[in-house]
Amino acid sequence: MVHFIDEAHIRIEAGNGGDGVISWRREKYVPKGGPDGGNGGHGGSVYFEADPELGTLLDFRYRRTHKADDGGKGAGKNCTGRSGEDMIVRVPVGTVVRDKESGKTIADLTERGERVLLAKGGRGGLGNTEFKTATNQAPRKQTNGKPGEAFDVELELKLLADVALVGFPNAGKSTLISRISAARPKIADYPFTTLVPNLGIVQAPEDHKSFVVADIPGLIEGASEGKGLGLQFLRHIERTSVLLYLLDGVPGEYDPSTAFKILKKELKHYDPLLLKKPAIIAITKSDAMSTDELKVFKRMTIAKQKPLVISAVSGDNIDVLIRSLWETIGKVRSPRT
Ligand code: GDP
Ligand code: MG
Repeated sequence: MVHFIDEAHIRIEAGNGGDGVISWRREKYVPKGGPDGGNGGHGGSVYFEADPELGTLLDFRYRRTHKADDGGKGAGKNCTGRSGEDMIVRVPVGTVVRDKESGKTIADLTERGERVLLAKGGRGGLGNTEFKTATNQAPRKQTNGKPGEAFDVELELKLLADVALVGFPNAGKSTLISRISAARPKIADYPFTTLVPNLGIVQAPEDHKSFVVADIPGLIEGASEGKGLGLQFLRHIERTSVLLYLLDGVPGEYDPSTAFKILKKELKHYDPLLLKKPAIIAITKSDAMSTDELKVFKRMTIAKQKPLVISAVSGDNIDVLIRSLWETIGKVRSPRT
């Protein structure tokens, strides 16, 4: 199975413990008040939690440092400082966390809802009350809070593509991916050196949601060249939820309806089950079409669907495309476990 890797580098910082304080009781009928300096509060810890709702590490590109609250300082009257609130960082199920310095794996969040302590908050310091002994009734001593643990980590997530682009060379697959993607995952254990899938993580129309689009080169080219290649790619496509057919709208060898038929035949030839996947059909390069051509495409149906007429160059209908991909993914996406 071909995997894609989404990565993020972040810093996590637990909260520092609050300092203990020196304070003395001052009460009306207690002439020589003893110590009443309270302890500092503990710093908040940082936890990671595996959230099945998240599909990529995209959010971490916008927020690099995750810090839990510091503990509060102690106060007189033996008041302990307030504890710093813990921070729960939500990551996709399947996220591996490594210490950046040592490269060691710190956590591997494989279960939905799994929670792991990553950085422990610093302990609060002691107030002078704690140092009172039989022989020292008036200790002038306190300790400061301990710093919270802090380190840089690398997050890594293996991805599967949600959407596979199906189209002839020059249909505009690469251009579309660069237009809509917010980040580029890396290719992991990829068996081919010459043909590398072009991938993109697309910000979904909902906050904190994203999906992965893959242009699988060689699916069509490979079909005519030899099956081995095509079959390898196919294994990848089998795991995607949605097919997006991209049909070149600029007059060329094939008109969109013909291109669609040929593409479908190629897929069927590999595995008829592929045709059971939900498919969205788009005609590309609307910016390069005449008004008349546009009219024709907007009225036409392909496989009983109204194709979207888009342009990755002008951005025409790209938002509509993203929305309909996202809706379709939502209907089929299996929970990420
Ligand atoms: P791929 O082979 O399917 O990946 O196609 P590319 O994305 O490489 O595009 C092939 C050619 O079509 C390139 O010259 C692109 O600049 C051009 N192209 C792609 N999308 C558009 C578009 O929306 N409008 C126009 N005018 N040209 C496009
Ligand atoms: Mg390309």
